[in-house]
Amino acid sequence: MSIQFKTIKQLGKMLNNKEISHVELIQETFSLITKNNHLNAFVTLNEQESLKKAEILDKSPSSSTLAGIPIAQKDLFCTKDLRTTCGSNMLSNFIPPYSATVIENLENAGCISVGKTNMDEFAMGSSNETSFYGNVQNPWGLNLVPGGSSGGSAAAVAAGIVPAASGTDTGGSIRQPASLCGITGLKPTYGRISRWGMIAFASSLDQAGPMTRTAEDCALLLNEMCSHDEKDTTSLDEKIPDFTKNINSSIEGLKIGLVKEFDLSKLDTDVVKVFEESKKHYESLGAKFVEISLPNISLSVPTYYVVAPAECSSNLSRFDGVKFGKRCENPKDLEELYIQTRSEGFGDEVKRRILIGSYVLSAGFYDAYYKKAQQVRRLIKNDFDSAFKNVDVIMSPTTRGAAFEAGSKGDDPIQMYLEDLFTIPANLAGLPAMSIPNGMIEKKPIGLQLIGNFLDESTLLRAAHNYQITTDWHLKTPEVMS
Ligand code: GLN
Repeated sequence: MSIQFKTIKQLGKMLNNKEISHVELIQETFSLITKNNHLNAFVTLNEQESLKKAEILDKSPSSSTLAGIPIAQKDLFCTKDLRTTCGSNMLSNFIPPYSATVIENLENAGCISVGKTNMDEFAMGSSNETSFYGNVQNPWGLNLVPGGSSGGSAAAVAAGIVPAASGTDTGGSIRQPASLCGITGLKPTYGRISRWGMIAFASSLDQAGPMTRTAEDCALLLNEMCSHDEKDTTSLDEKIPDFTKNINSSIEGLKIGLVKEFDLSKLDTDVVKVFEESKKHYESLGAKFVEISLPNISLSVPTYYVVAPAECSSNLSRFDGVKFGKRCENPKDLEELYIQTRSEGFGDEVKRRILIGSYVLSAGFYDAYYKKAQQVRRLIKNDFDSAFKNVDVIMSPTTRGAAFEAGSKGDDPIQMYLEDLFTIPANLAGLPAMSIPNGMIEKKPIGLQLIGNFLDESTLLRAAHNYQITTDWHLKTPEVMS
């Protein structure tokens, strides 16, 4: 029986019923990776190690739900003894001496990390076109982008190669590619998942999360990904619920907020139609809609593009040719070592962000830009706090449209930045948010965004699961190599 497009739950059953052995599952996964090589979803594979782990599981079976489940890891998480590039030339030779906490958590639960997925360089981008390792193709149309920055992870799940992948989301990098590839993706509350061993882009926004076919699988992964970690000072010391527990409870009476300031009339009529249909569907499940106001929401994108570059300019200063990764050839002195290494190691978008970040943090402009952006960020957070007094979740489209053609936004960074119009606010406020497939536009999938209150991933997952057991958008699959 084919393993392609199966969920974690389905694969777990196949393993339990001995319809397939652990080794066979991993072998088939690698055969799917090879057949779909053209997608360029993976940067580095971990075949020998994966087979070894599968052999052990065949010899001494484990009772863990995730035992032997193949997972693709975004190439931004440090993986011990396995190359970690972060999509950059700068780290093309970097082999971490340790694994990120979240990788350890998943592997301790039995997941097998089959490889590292392609991504926008240092997670900066919305189309995977900034990767040093080339574009990723969207399984739904090979001329289309998969979204970004977790584009390789999204493509690998959408092509049915793996049931699950890890992603990270600083301004939308889990939800936007999930929307464009027709899969389910969750960005948890900031601090739920340890950032230890995640290569930092913008530390106050970065958060790891699961990318899967279903909300139920997201919950299964989230159960293992979350932990309190003393090695990350922003890691939350909060009770971690069993996220699968209430997922089946009804959503009768759930109050869903619709943001007055999101002017959907500016979107394609098809996008609006899909969104309206989802509203009707939620209504039929017993949800109630409430109009809410987030008065400062229109400032989200500009605020993000001050805060994120500021933090990235500081975080990326560590890549100096001395400590990590690449070093230029024959520099004549230390200054040239820095300049040459960074000029050769970073791509254009990363350099643009470092320049913007250094500018907004500079003595003369700090108050006008960085300080102001932090103040606006607080206002946006306050808006959400007030809104969540009246609603349980907030709903919007995830993206302004379906997947676009590679190269079509290349010359205009602002157009690319606007890809995250709907996703960025949840990062600025540190709130959990997810994207679930809710329709097709010209044979391309599109997603619905649900934003939850602080630490309330459970309600999001319940709302998403209730939608998925009564619709089939998440079951649609592209025509790919099988
Ligand atoms: N697309 C956004 C950016 O380029 C968000 C990226 C992300 O979430 N990592 O910054």
